[in-house]
Amino acid sequence: MLLSCDVAIIGGAFSGAATALLLKRRNPALHVVIIEKSEAFDRKVGESTTEVSSCFLTRVLGLTNWLGHHQLAKQGLRMWFARSEDEKFDECAELGARFNSRMPGFQVDRSTLDEHVLSLAVAAGCELIRPAKVVKFDLGGAGSNLLELFENGESRQVLARWVVDASGRAAIIARKRGYMQAMPEHPVNSIWARFTGVADWDSIALREKFPKWANATVAARGWATNHLCGPGWWVWIIPLKGGDVSVGLVYDERLFNPPEGATIGARILAHCREHPIGREILADAKVIEGDERAFSQLTYRVTQVMCDGWACVGDAAGFIDPLYSPGLDFCAFTAQSVANAVGDACTGKSVDVRDYNRRFAFCFQSWFDCIYRDKYYYIGDAEIMAAALLMDVATYHLGPVKQVYSDPATMFGAFPFDGFAGRVAAKFIAFYNRRLVAIARKRIAAGTYGARNAKWRLLIPGFTHEPKQSGRLLFSGIRRWLWLEFKSLWLRGKSAATPAPPPVTVPESTG
Ligand SMILES: Cc1cc2nc3c(=O)[nH]c(=O)nc-3n(C[C@H](O)[C@H](O)[C@H](O)COP(=O)(O)OP(=O)(O)OC[C@H]3O[C@@H](n4cnc5c(N)ncnc54)[C@H](O)[C@@H]3O)c2cc1C
Repeated sequence: MLLSCDVAIIGGAFSGAATALLLKRRNPALHVVIIEKSEAFDRKVGESTTEVSSCFLTRVLGLTNWLGHHQLAKQGLRMWFARSEDEKFDECAELGARFNSRMPGFQVDRSTLDEHVLSLAVAAGCELIRPAKVVKFDLGGAGSNLLELFENGESRQVLARWVVDASGRAAIIARKRGYMQAMPEHPVNSIWARFTGVADWDSIALREKFPKWANATVAARGWATNHLCGPGWWVWIIPLKGGDVSVGLVYDERLFNPPEGATIGARILAHCREHPIGREILADAKVIEGDERAFSQLTYRVTQVMCDGWACVGDAAGFIDPLYSPGLDFCAFTAQSVANAVGDACTGKSVDVRDYNRRFAFCFQSWFDCIYRDKYYYIGDAEIMAAALLMDVATYHLGPVKQVYSDPATMFGAFPFDGFAGRVAAKFIAFYNRRLVAIARKRIAAGTYGARNAKWRLLIPGFTHEPKQSGRLLFSGIRRWLWLEFKSLWLRGKSAATPAPPPVTVPESTG
């Protein structure tokens, strides 16, 4: 049986469903078919949104009301550091906000969010084939793309003018065409699980035990994305609607390896309980059996994300690193950009595929070089991370956040780091990141790394995309960075060499 359509989308989770919805809104006459292999979405990672992805969710997809009723409001990001396992709970260094967030943000259960966005796409007129798996394809160019799917044990064919690959890490087009590349310069892995019985950060019990700690901020700590940080690793603790808590460890295998254990949940707990904050917060935590996963080699790039007749969105176009939660930002930028390009192509307008691939590649590489390259060398040192956090978040607000809020309807069609200002910003951010790595290496060699991981807090009044506010925080970050440079002039020790990363391929999943 052959079905003909204008656009076939492989994968109906967040990126696929959002692209379908945007295409339909832009051109209701298009016949859009979504092919999704799962019968129902499971809870996956991608639970913490940023200012950018929240702007997309609320102002582009229009989900403010739904999110308010069905997900949790996120209260920013907090980071916790300790000098040793024996640090007192209330003396661990803390980076975070003094007040609740000024901009929208959410902690989302992806099984319900993705299902909801998909239902909106179907309500807008998209045809959903589910459960059905795309098993083969022949991409012959716009108008002659043939997909073969397996549905209810039977084979079926779809002929599409355009194909959108939204298959996540399966990235079926990039893998088949040889466009997927591992990034051995960033050997980062993750294990995660969901837990019950996680302590309430804002409880009376903790307030009575640590009154000074409790009164240090008026923000709701429990509704933040809390990170435990150490040399070469970090742990996220994310609350979900209904009370379960997502906890995951991300680590750079050049610098750290998690403890062994019978299960993923046991390994996470063993690791977290070595950190004074984790020990207290996860004291009575119990893993939800079966809700445990692992991914190795998280980072990969796709060297070509669009061609005449097909395009990739979300994780099918590459993935960098979950720190600061940029995953759904990439899904948002690529969903909107691809909906624009495919919508144009289907109405006979020309699409500059070469320019699109060039701009995407520059954005991806710059984002990696600026924020993530060798970040895990300094992620465990509170003083260095304080400078980084201020500069990273301020430049993020001055750049992508300001960009998308200036006109949400159009600005998700531009990539961060586009244009001259973007190129200058990329050089500056990548430069200070390299310098912070160099300072961390000097500290490691001198034995002073993490020496000030206790007895202070950096509590920021809050981030907004107003240039005055972000500018102030940027200068405060630069001041801290220059002070670290000055102090490191006196550090002595053998410089720590980076071991060569092992060769890697990107597994689809190792859950
Ligand atoms: C450890 C970790 C932590 C993360 N934390 C965050 C975070 O806090 N915040 C954030 O924003 N991002 C985070 N991310 C990133 C985020 O998870 C992804 O960017 C996001 O889920 C990608 O969504 P997607 O729709 O592109 O792909 P997916 O959600 O992977 O969906 C792909 C869909 O395609 C379907 N599919 C696959 N193959 C086929 C086929 N052959 N035929 C039909 N259907 C198919 C699948 O069933 C699936 O439904 C994290 C990532 C990792 C690895």
